[in-house]
Amino acid sequence: MKVTCGIVEDLLPLYMEDMCSEESKAALEEHIEACPACSEKAARMKNGAVIPQMKNQDRRFPIADYVKKVKRHRIRVGISAALICALAVCVLVLLGLTIIDMRREANPYIFEVENGVYDLTSAALECTAEDIGQYIFYTNSTKIEMTVKNDDDFHGTVMLWDTQYGDNFIQINDVDEKADTCIFTACSAAKRYKITCEGLAGATITVCDGRTVNFWNSFIHVVNGLTGK
Ligand SMILES: [Zn+2]
Repeated sequence: MKVTCGIVEDLLPLYMEDMCSEESKAALEEHIEACPACSEKAARMKNGAVIPQMKNQDRRFPIADYVKKVKRHRIRVGISAALICALAVCVLVLLGLTIIDMRREANPYIFEVENGVYDLTSAALECTAEDIGQYIFYTNSTKIEMTVKNDDDFHGTVMLWDTQYGDNFIQINDVDEKADTCIFTACSAAKRYKITCEGLAGATITVCDGRTVNFWNSFIHVVNGLTGK
């Protein structure tokens, strides 16, 4: 191979570090011996002169800048990861509380009510329109829900009474084939209720506490609890 001055210049740093192959080394030495210019360059380099390319400012790698960039990037990644973790923890806590609330709603605490009071929390009641007036109801769901069924056409009214101090009328609802369910809300577990019907002779009435266990109800319940509503 013909070794030119350019090749020598390229290989000199490697040669000085003794990192050339024996073949290159021999070729380089052969050229340097015969070429005064390269001989001088080699001598200068041996004496510790800086290799010209290394003086070039543009080629210097901005390590300090790079380290700063890496640090900034790591900080950003760290903050993002912390935020995502915090968010995930919040979501998990909300989910957990919602599931606990759903289970509590599905398995309500059964309060032992006094004799003669029908506890709607334990079970729904099915009876005839004629008989419903003789029951006294307890609910802890704040609701009393009733459904009317009749083989014949029907149109009547349902009345809710508070029996705590005599029979105090609270609310009246119309029921017919189109609206055969009525829900009394804002009921209190501290009170006892009575239901009477008019114009529903022969109908079957189902009374329950209107408890609806679902994810959103419980979720809203939990959020309201946490925000103090
Ligand atoms: Zn040369």
